[in-house]
Amino acid sequence: MTKLTDQSLLKTASYWQGEWHDADSNFEVINPANGDVIAKVADSTATAAEKAVAAADKAFAGWAARPASERSELLLRWQQLLLEHQDDLGLLLTLEQGKPLAEAKGEIAYGASYMQWFAEEAKRVYGDTIPAKSGDQRIVVIKQPVGVVAAITPWNFPNAMIARKAAAALAAGCTFVVKPAQLTPLSALAMAELADRAGIPAGVFNVITSTDAKAIGDVLTQDKRVAKFSFTGSTKIGKQLAKQCAGTVKRVSLELGGNAPFIVFADADLDAAIDGLMASKFRNAGQTCVCTNRILVQQSIVEPFTEKLQQAIGKLKLGKGTDDNVDIGPLINNDACDKVDKLLHQALAMGAKLHCGGKRQATDSLFYFPTLVTGVNNDMAVAQDEIFGPVAAVQSFDDEAEAIALANATDSGLAAYFYSRDIGRCWRVAEALQYGMVGVNEGMVSNPTAPFGGVKQSGYGREGSKYGLDDYLDVKYLCLGGLDK
Ligand code: NAP
Repeated sequence: MTKLTDQSLLKTASYWQGEWHDADSNFEVINPANGDVIAKVADSTATAAEKAVAAADKAFAGWAARPASERSELLLRWQQLLLEHQDDLGLLLTLEQGKPLAEAKGEIAYGASYMQWFAEEAKRVYGDTIPAKSGDQRIVVIKQPVGVVAAITPWNFPNAMIARKAAAALAAGCTFVVKPAQLTPLSALAMAELADRAGIPAGVFNVITSTDAKAIGDVLTQDKRVAKFSFTGSTKIGKQLAKQCAGTVKRVSLELGGNAPFIVFADADLDAAIDGLMASKFRNAGQTCVCTNRILVQQSIVEPFTEKLQQAIGKLKLGKGTDDNVDIGPLINNDACDKVDKLLHQALAMGAKLHCGGKRQATDSLFYFPTLVTGVNNDMAVAQDEIFGPVAAVQSFDDEAEAIALANATDSGLAAYFYSRDIGRCWRVAEALQYGMVGVNEGMVSNPTAPFGGVKQSGYGREGSKYGLDDYLDVKYLCLGGLDK
């Protein structure tokens, strides 16, 4: 931490009503690369969450009433501060999450890009006029902010998962309370410090840090003052929280787990497919919701494809995120390593073949070697569960129909990718894949101008793009009558 240029970005208290609030007890934030305690952070209670919601509720009317151009300017100031402090924010993120520093800085820029996008969109919340049935009436549609938004976010993108939600919410005129993951609270708190410096008014952006996710979640999903709840995390917890929101009929957005297929047809540009796959599979050591989980390769090219993939994997450097030129950092914790190991060894026991990796760097180490396994099939847990680790699991298919059927044989529907040079096939397969996002000859699909989100049990709602702003707006219909008198 001594390496931070701006030490005041290291905050350890919860933040609401524009002030920092300590708690009776603290919890430790651990660096997954070496087990060091980086900081001790306020372990806030449900009462604190209620206070944060009260602060957001109090601030709502004033924030919603600000001209969109003013909200836009404040968001842009926040975005600029994130970019000015990109090095410090990146370092904090790497220390608490583990990803390589270049990726962490990339995440800060990515989060900031949502702030810029939504700052601009704030000025384009257009309504509608609709021809009325009767001559003495006019029909007008306006859009208004939904109200207080509460969010719960995961550890794998400690900055961006908050930025994507908060930027849209604030742009729309909503106020915001977030509970970040307990493993990675420091990035969220640094964002609050910069929101404060940007002049975002008290109560508009609030952060509650806690180890009692259930207690905080109960408040955020059940308090009547919260109009909308936005969650990014596992499908299991998302389902539970959606149920909890039903009691007060909140608007809900869910960004849940994925099980992305990456299909390579025999007519694909193999080198381009390998490049796309490496980006999609190994970013954040495989710990992203849109990471490739199943690599489906047409039977006739399995051999040359596997060879090229093994070569590419062999070039990956495993190490601490703060070391130079590292591609793969540690996994987030011991459970994550155990899960990866278990999925892999089940597959090997069922006949899959290991080509490289397949173990931790040392017993108890959180560094897991980039791994390649072939001969996988959809019955194996490695193809059904989210691996969330650096394991490339290859299976084969015979024809287009089989590829589509295999790709869709999952309850998830977040991201899918495929490579082909046949334009007809590109359309057919893109339309047939039951996913919210499809990369066609592209392994990285996420950016602020496009709608990010899933179908099936990967959730509903979109982040980014004009659709992302709609998630924070209510449509109101005004019927003006008696106009011909
Ligand atoms: P998780 O266990 O569901 O946790 C996510 C968040 O929910 C954390 O803040 C966690 O708090 C909180 N939480 C856990 N139990 C809760 C409860 N009973 N009530 C209220 N909140 C609760 O997921 P994760 O392991 O951190 O994140 C990985 C998952 O997120 C993967 O499935 C991944 O695919 C998904 N994800 C999806 C997207 C997307 O956009 N679709 C993006 C990123 C990640 P604690 O930290 O205190 O446990």
